[in-house]
Amino acid sequence: MSVEQTLVLIKPDGLKKSLTGNILTRLSETRLEIAGARIVRVTRELAEEHYVALKDQPFFQGLIAYIMGELHERRKVMALVYHGEDAIKKVREICGATNPEEADPLTIRGGYGRITTSGIYENAIHASANLEEAEREIKLWFYPDELVYHIYSVQETELKDVKRLVWA
Ligand code: UDP
Ligand code: MG
Repeated sequence: MSVEQTLVLIKPDGLKKSLTGNILTRLSETRLEIAGARIVRVTRELAEEHYVALKDQPFFQGLIAYIMGELHERRKVMALVYHGEDAIKKVREICGATNPEEADPLTIRGGYGRITTSGIYENAIHASANLEEAEREIKLWFYPDELVYHIYSVQETELKDVKRLVWA
C-alpha cells in the first residue's frame, strides 16, 4: 500500500438531488483526507478531455451532455481530491459498480444512481479507476496550488501576460 490521490466528481445529478452532504459523509468512511475541492463549470473541452478514453463509445455524446450538466440545469460539478493510503481502491469501493442497477445498494451509486430512458448511467459520482488515470485526472482538474498535499512533482514558474479576474 502507498499514499495515493484520487479524483472524485460529484456529478450534476448528485448536485441537483442535493446529495453533496450525503456523498461526502459516505466518502468520510474511508478515513481519507480531502486535499482539494472546487466547484467547476464544466466546458465541453474539459468534459471531452476527461472522458477521452470513451470517445468511441455510442453513449459518448450523452455522457458529455450529462457531465456538463445539460440534463440537469446545473452546469457544474464538485471536484475533490482524496488523499491517503490506498485511496483509489477505497473510493471506488464505496462508489460501487458503474451500472447503478448492478451496484451494491449500500454503495453511493447503488443508493443514488439511476439509468435514464436514453440509457445513460446517472450514477452521481466519478472516481479515478487506477494510478495512471488518477494522475491524469487530478492534473486536468486542479492546479498544484489548489491542493494542500502534493504527491506529483511541482515546479515554480513565472507566467507573463496571464489574465485573471480580480475583485473590482
Ligand atoms: N456510462 C454510461 N453507459 C455505459 C458506461 C458508462 O452511461 O454503458 C457512463 C457512466 O456515467 C460512467 C461514465 O460513463 O460513470 C464513465 O464510464 P466508465 O466505464 O469509465 O465507468 P466509471 O469509471 O465511471 O465506473
Ligand atoms: Mg472510468
